[in-house]
Amino acid sequence: MKENKYKDFGFKLTPQRLAILGFLEGNTSHPSAEEIDSALSEKFPTMSLATVYNTLETLRQRGLVRELSIDPDKKRFDPNVSPHNHLICMECRRVVDVQENFPLSLGLQDKAGFDIIGHHVEFYGICPECRRAAAHTT
Ligand SMILES: [Zn+2]
Ligand SMILES: [Zn+2]
Repeated sequence: MKENKYKDFGFKLTPQRLAILGFLEGNTSHPSAEEIDSALSEKFPTMSLATVYNTLETLRQRGLVRELSIDPDKKRFDPNVSPHNHLICMECRRVVDVQENFPLSLGLQDKAGFDIIGHHVEFYGICPECRRAAAHTT
């Protein structure tokens, strides 16, 4: 486990927190806190959802994880904090990265005096698996 990467963040690395970090490392499935909790609960029976939430919040505050509001049911978390956009399946809630950049800019009036530091584009749709499943049931 690459502990050194997190040494400078003033972040106490308990085994549970390390497990959460390890689970997130390179993870592109945009898991929810519940998914992280259930994935790790077998190895860490004392891990609670509160621990997962607290750890995610600490990571978010330090810019190590991005919180996504694309899923209307629950918050999703992304260890990839470089700017990118997302696509969600409205059936199975699969979230996929969209790497394409969109040259979006706001006019003076829409900026409302803000300094704009970024934007996030969300696409909604039905993934191929769900489309196939729907075709089979009708
Ligand atoms: Zn789907
Ligand atoms: Zn992402």
